[in-house]
Amino acid sequence: MKDKTLSVSAIQRGTVIDHIPADSLFDVLSILKLDELDSQITFGTNLKSQKYGKKAIIKLEGKFFKADEINRIALVAPDAKLNIIEDYHVVEKKDVGLPDEVEGIAKCMNPKCVTNHESIVTRFTVIDKKHVDLKCHYCEKVTDKPNLEII
Ligand SMILES: [Zn+2]
Repeated sequence: MKDKTLSVSAIQRGTVIDHIPADSLFDVLSILKLDELDSQITFGTNLKSQKYGKKAIIKLEGKFFKADEINRIALVAPDAKLNIIEDYHVVEKKDVGLPDEVEGIAKCMNPKCVTNHESIVTRFTVIDKKHVDLKCHYCEKVTDKPNLEII
């Protein structure tokens, strides 16, 4: 009989991103630029989770991220967990945590900001990691979580 807890097929080696809120799945895909990857990606969404009600999970065959890439996930899925897989087994578990700076993933909420008018990569200092407050490097306006738009 098949293992009923296995919602998405196992991977041999790579990274599994678990505990993503179901409604943040596509933001996580976008943050990690997974559309540009050529590795095998499987994801499941609206899976049952005691914590969220519904969660999403992403499995990346043969892909390992650097810490700063992974930490970007915390912008939209602060409780996400990473499982590093070798030979079908979890060899390491990691939590995500916001980095001190984020570049090129969020939009500045100031309509007058230069980054919204010219092709300049956005750059923010994370001034509050708990509430996700991002201070723009160019206009110094703070973009808070309710106004956060992933680009
Ligand atoms: Zn700005």
